[in-house]
Amino acid sequence: MFSDITEAKQVEAELMAANEKLNLLAHRDGLTELLTRRAFDEALAREFARASRNAMPLSLLIIDVDWFKRFNDHYGHPAGDECLRVVSRCIEAAARRPADAAARYGGEEFGLILPETDAHGAFVIAENLRSKVRDLAIGHAGSEKGIVTVSIGVSTFEAAAAIEIADLLSRADEALYGAKAAGRDRVHGWRPHLSGQRSTGSRRKT
Ligand code: GH3
Ligand code: MG
Ligand code: MG
Repeated sequence: MFSDITEAKQVEAELMAANEKLNLLAHRDGLTELLTRRAFDEALAREFARASRNAMPLSLLIIDVDWFKRFNDHYGHPAGDECLRVVSRCIEAAARRPADAAARYGGEEFGLILPETDAHGAFVIAENLRSKVRDLAIGHAGSEKGIVTVSIGVSTFEAAAAIEIADLLSRADEALYGAKAAGRDRVHGWRPHLSGQRSTGSRRKT
């Protein structure tokens, strides 16, 4: 009897561990262990709906490693992978509240969802993240800075603004494009004048 219960508990614990592993595999990126793009899209839809319902702000950061192609070319792909892993830990650390969500959005591009965070708060978090990546001091011969840096685009949904999720994404993307064009290793927030600046529309390839 006693051993039956012990055995059942052990089986249950094993099942739970297996389940957790499956969950991790389904929602976490294999290299960085951040959320996958799919999980990110789901989290963004959920948080956007919640922000609209509660008339709360919601900010989005898109983070892109500067001159990463050159990094791979110079140090090799495995070193590039390791760099992405280390940078990911900084991004994960920037997601401090339970509802914050950090994801690998594309190859060397990351997304951070910050519910209940206004534009100013998001900018502070983004600046802090940018300097944390600098503090890693990962050598980068292909960058004029000599170390690995990131550029960050920030966009914010405010209760009064009638924008969609797609606008929030494209605005963060536009701001990121601006940060790249202005010299990289910087944070840019989206401003109304940014829209329509480029006739080709969004920088996003996917
Ligand atoms: P920019 O400063 O404008 O962002 O330039 P960049 O070189 O970082 O941007 P680009 O889009 O030209 O290159 C991105 C590079 O990221 C190319 C690709 O090989 C590399 N990359 C994407 N995913 C991975 C990955 O999982 N591992 C490694 N090592 N490299 C990756
Ligand atoms: Mg890049
Ligand atoms: Mg990129």
